[in-house]
Formats: sequence, C-alpha cells, structure tokens
Amino acid sequence: MAYLTLKNVNKIYPNGYHAVHNFNLEIERGEFVVFVGPSGCGKSTTLRMIAGLEDISSGEFLIDGVRANEKGPREREIAMVFQSYALYPQMTVYDNIAFGLTLQGVDEDVIEDRVKKTAAILGLTDYLDRLPRALSGGQRQRVAIGRAIIRKVGVFLMDEPLSNLDAKQRVTMRYEIAQIHQETGATTIYVTHDQTEAMTLADRIVVMKDGYIQQVGTPYELYFQPENVFVAGFIGEPPMNFIRGKVQNGFLMFGENRLDLSRRQDGMAKYEGKEVVFGFRPEAIQLGLQDGAYQIHSQVELTEMLGDNTNIYVTSGDARAILKVDSHDTPATDIPLDFSIPLQSVYLFDGETEKVIR
Ligand code: ADP
Repeated sequence: MAYLTLKNVNKIYPNGYHAVHNFNLEIERGEFVVFVGPSGCGKSTTLRMIAGLEDISSGEFLIDGVRANEKGPREREIAMVFQSYALYPQMTVYDNIAFGLTLQGVDEDVIEDRVKKTAAILGLTDYLDRLPRALSGGQRQRVAIGRAIIRKVGVFLMDEPLSNLDAKQRVTMRYEIAQIHQETGATTIYVTHDQTEAMTLADRIVVMKDGYIQQVGTPYELYFQPENVFVAGFIGEPPMNFIRGKVQNGFLMFGENRLDLSRRQDGMAKYEGKEVVFGFRPEAIQLGLQDGAYQIHSQVELTEMLGDNTNIYVTSGDARAILKVDSHDTPATDIPLDFSIPLQSVYLFDGETEKVIR
C-alpha cells in the first residue's frame, strides 16, 4: 500500500475558485516527488492540503491507508519548509533548530544530541551560536531545513525553498537537498516552478497546469515520453521546438521543406487535412543532411554562445526553431543551414487535443 494517497482531491476556495481538479497520486515511503508547473497552477494549494493548512473540498487524503482529511497539521507528522525561512531573529541557530523539540518538552540532552547531528548533516556546526542575521541566505535556508528534519517526521514538504537564493547558491543548495534526502531517506514533496530543479531532484515529477495534473513520471519519462505539447514544452531547456501545420497528402510543408510524416508514424492517414504539431528537441538535431533522418533547410537568424554549447535560432518559412550545438560547430549568422532530425527524436501531437500521437 502507498504511504500517501490523494484520491480525486479538489480544492474550491471560498470565493468559488476551483484551484485543484481531481488530483490523484500515490507516493511511496522514501520517495522524492516534485510538483512543477507555472505560477498559479495549484502546486502550493495541493501541498498545503497535504500539510493540513488548507481544507480538502472533496476527495480523500490517506496516510498509510488511513483517512487524514480531518487531522490537524500536528497530528499528520509532517514538517514543512517555506520559501521565507521564518526563523526567529532573536534566537541563535541552535535555538532555532531546537525550537520544535523544546516546545514538545524533549529532554535537554536528547535535544543537544539531535541538534548536533542535524547541524553536522547541514554543515552548520560552526554557526550554532550565531543569530540568523549573521548568516548568508543559503545558511538561513539550511537552518530552516534543520528545524524541519530534526523532528524526524515521516514527510517533509518544501515550497519553493530556493527561491530567495541567488543562482549560484541555488545550485549548491539543490545538491545539499539531494544529499540530505539520501541521508535521511525522508519522504519528500517539493514544489517548484523551475523545471531544472524538478529534473535534478525528483524520483518522480508531477507536472501541473491550471489545476490539473498533466503527467506523472520519472524525469526520464517526462523528457523522452511527454504525453502532450504542454509537458514537452515545459521540460527541457531550451524547450522543445514545435512546428504546427496541416497534413497535406501525408506531408507537413513549411519553407522549402516537405516532411513525409508516415516515415515517423503509422496511421497518419486519419490526420489528412488536419492540424498536427511536429516536435523536436534543440539538442536532438545533427548538422548537415543525414540519411534516414528528416532533413531540414533553414536560415540562421542569431547565435547565442553559452560556453560548451551554442543555441542557433533558425527560421524556415513561418517556422522558427532553436538548435543546440557544440560551440565548435557555430555557424555564421544570416546564412542557410541544413540540419537533420533522427526519426526517433521526432514527436507528433494532435493539433486539436495537443496529445501525443502514438
Ligand atoms: P502555485 O503554487 O502553483 O503558484 P497556488 O496553489 O498558490 O499556485 O494557487 C492556485 C490558484 O489558486 C491561483 O490562481 C491562486 O490565485 C488561487 N488561490 C490561492 N489561494 C487562494 C485563496 N485563498 N482564495 C482564492 N484563490 C486562491
């Protein structure tokens, strides 16, 4: 049986706004699950329902198979880390980390032992006497995490914990969060709008949009087997390229290109005269005209050097795309560029439903 279960969970706020629709998910013990999606898609609302900070309008939330809808936050054995660290400014790092245990009246010796172990995991041993204002943003976030993990609860919830850090600190903290998870093995649900954080941290990702789950899967599944245009475009950086067009005699035509769609996919006849979306990832292309691949003629508009890789912005007729190549292969701008997409790297989506065509 799954550790946490959400069954047809809905959230309708008192003002009538339906923020989460029929959310279904099972989470195993020890899993690291990330909710990802654009701002306003219902990630925090779902997390807050799991934490017990927000009522569940309909549906069920089960912990170890037992209905928990009516349980208060404390009874759920769940700890939460917020994006604002919410540390007590007048308390030392030690007291901030110890706070929850002190409240529970745990023995001083036990508290000291656990604070020391927690501080060691988080690299805070040398900072226990400091006040929060004498810490960097990353260190403060670690104290906030320490305060949550010291309680040794079953589930650990994090809502955009890295959003107040600068780009460099975010990468370091991301690594540390992954390490803490490895060490503690705690079941973790993590909310972010950042697909890189989701891809690097998650065992499984839940992609959300407008209050609906779009797809649940491992980072590998979401990248290689996206269910729809939204997931395909959300996961991956730069995002997948999409070329929209009507199927004419089995072909997709744009610029000087005429792509025989049946080479990629059987059963395209039923799409004759209908719109499809042809998708390929910027990094899945090869330069030049390769046999056994879709060959495309385009024009270079702009290049963007990123270090090891360069993004090439190309156009072909009305279609636009970004190609990601080794920087040593950077072409000049304003010249024609031929490239190829291996058949297995092409995705076709129904133009109307935007679902992948299988
Ligand atoms: P996310 O975490 O994905 O950014 P939220 O879960 O915070 O999204 O919000 C989902 C939607 O619910 C948003 O449109 C938001 O404006 C709305 N919402 C959040 N809280 C309330 C509330 N207390 N009352 C009404 N609507 C709310």
